[in-house]
Amino acid sequence: MKNSLGWGLIGASNVAREWIIDAIRAQRGNHIRTVLSRDAARGAAFAQACGIPASTTELDEILRDPMVDAVYVSTENALHHDQVLAAARAGKHVLCEKPLALSVREAQEMVDACRAAGVVMATNHHLRCSALHIALHEHLKAGAIGRLNSVRVFHANFLAAMLGGWRLNDAGGGVFLDSTIHDVDTLRFHLDGDPTDVFAMAQSGRRGAGGVEDGIMAVLRFPDDVLVQIHGAYSVPFAPGGIEFYGDKGVLIGRDCMSQRPIGTLALRDGDGEREIPLVHHNLYHFALQCFTRAVAGEGRPAATGEDGVASLAIALALKEAARTGRQVRVGAP
Ligand code: NDP
Repeated sequence: MKNSLGWGLIGASNVAREWIIDAIRAQRGNHIRTVLSRDAARGAAFAQACGIPASTTELDEILRDPMVDAVYVSTENALHHDQVLAAARAGKHVLCEKPLALSVREAQEMVDACRAAGVVMATNHHLRCSALHIALHEHLKAGAIGRLNSVRVFHANFLAAMLGGWRLNDAGGGVFLDSTIHDVDTLRFHLDGDPTDVFAMAQSGRRGAGGVEDGIMAVLRFPDDVLVQIHGAYSVPFAPGGIEFYGDKGVLIGRDCMSQRPIGTLALRDGDGEREIPLVHHNLYHFALQCFTRAVAGEGRPAATGEDGVASLAIALALKEAARTGRQVRVGAP
């Protein structure tokens, strides 16, 4: 099985430039052959700035290239579905950005197409790749805080101006599909399951236009009657991010850990007081790409699979529906 992959970038995006190009190149033998942009001049400028040998406006040009083994899809959310179906048909392994699509049906079609084609599909949920979250998960599983009662997620921040655009005014934007979906994936990772019921309220108008939510508060019920609360926002500066797990024997506290950067501290508080759990941080996206490359080589599975992406989308859409209707929503109900 091959682990020196040739890559095509589908999308001349900010996240590719900031994080993923470096993460691909950090994998031994992996290289990027070309980048797709609908705008030839922008694509060429992006390729030159990032040291990519070619750019194209034609998806087929990437998919016909026998030296491209895998594609990274980071276009606007509404485009992921058709692009992933085409990549799967062409036999390319797929790392796709979240949300996989704008509906669960479309996301499931993407997973099914990759499975039928025998290619690896991964969803780029980065938080479960963090050293802090991995250590937190291990402590939870080892029973460090006893039986879990509840969880609180703090993921409110102030969206940088350069990230505005579609996030603030597009049907594919808004906090639920952009940021809460990562929280939901992280919770699924820690709790090894899906919530049964969700409720949420949303704000709009501070940063978002046309009803696009720029702040949310959500409540989710997970198996074993574990209650979870999430605060997400684009409009709150200076707020610390974090996650707290409350058990009947103690509390696990992750501070500054809902981030793309390898930062944050983890503490355990119980009858002996509070103490920090030592961490060796690593780059989250390097870890994700390492898992992906190994999965293509037949070793293990991606950090977050296509199925994980379908599940996180289903929950984020259920939260959006709850906020729209003012009703509690059962996850997975038709
Ligand atoms: P961008 O807005 O940077 O890029 C999306 C598309 O917009 C590009 O494919 C490009 O298409 C077009 N575009 C980009 N920059 C410009 C520009 N300056 N002028 C005009 N058009 C431009 O998207 P993001 O990087 O913010 O997000 C891309 C995807 O990645 C989304 O699905 C998002 O949800 C996800 N994401 C995931 C993250 C993670 O950590 N997992 C973090 C951030 C985003 P074209 O060149 O064809 O016009």
